[in-house]
Amino acid sequence: PAAVELRDALKLEGVCFGYEDGRRTLRDLDLTVEAGSTAALVGPSGAGKSTVADLVSGLLAPTEGAVLVDGRPLVGGARGSWRDRIGYVAQETFLFNDTVRSNLLWARPDANEEELVGALDQAAARKFVAGLPDGLETRLGDRGVRLSGGERQRLALARALLRRPSLLILDEATSALDSENERRVLDAVEGLRGRLTILLITHRLSAARFADVVHVLENGELVESGEPDALLAGD
Ligand code: ADP
Ligand code: ADP
Repeated sequence: PAAVELRDALKLEGVCFGYEDGRRTLRDLDLTVEAGSTAALVGPSGAGKSTVADLVSGLLAPTEGAVLVDGRPLVGGARGSWRDRIGYVAQETFLFNDTVRSNLLWARPDANEEELVGALDQAAARKFVAGLPDGLETRLGDRGVRLSGGERQRLALARALLRRPSLLILDEATSALDSENERRVLDAVEGLRGRLTILLITHRLSAARFADVVHVLENGELVESGEPDALLAGD
């Protein structure tokens, strides 16, 4: 078997992608995310960020080139097994109109109470669970619809973490939130730094301030990569 580059949790090699209209949305994209690092992909609306998100989560296959997770192609391999290792939180995350507990159990039906609480803690979501008179039991039983936008995103994050992914993809996960809730969710993500590989996709460079490296996508091409401070300073 080919040697697996474990240092590279995610690698896009010469990736091209075009939708059916024939235009090239992504052009010869090379991107490497080192295992355990936090990388951000930023760029204006229409740059191709969502297309990259769909490619790295296996929803789309590249027209040319390859998407490698832990050194192995995402598409063409056992897709199901990768899905368990990739946690995905989008802007509008699908939640069942049901309890917090059932939303968490959907990801890991076998999870015990301790694991559920652990995931909520990791997503810094326990604050909304504790502090209530009836405690954890009651709030775990709360219906998702009664959670605020920020709580919903932290629940989505907890759900993604329950599967113990090695790669966490956040696709505009805080874009629909007000600044206070965005800060809470980003603080939770920052707390995960170094514990798994994180790819933060956002149109807001400021949301990527704690990334190890920021890649700037414009018009389907990577135009710049660097540390967030340097890029923010040059803005
Ligand atoms: P971003 O997430 O950075 O806003 P997208 O990946 O959504 O960018 O879009 C990149 C380009 O691809 C845009 O020009 C967009 O209009 C186009 N595009 C996105 N989705 C589709 C689609 N399903 N069919 C055709 N073109 C699309
Ligand atoms: P399926 O095809 O198994 O029915 P989808 O892939 O359509 O499910 O996913 C439905 C929703 O579940 C998505 O909107 C996504 O937010 C969520 N989801 C899927 N996979 C994960 C995951 N690994 N972690 C967290 N949420 C996930």
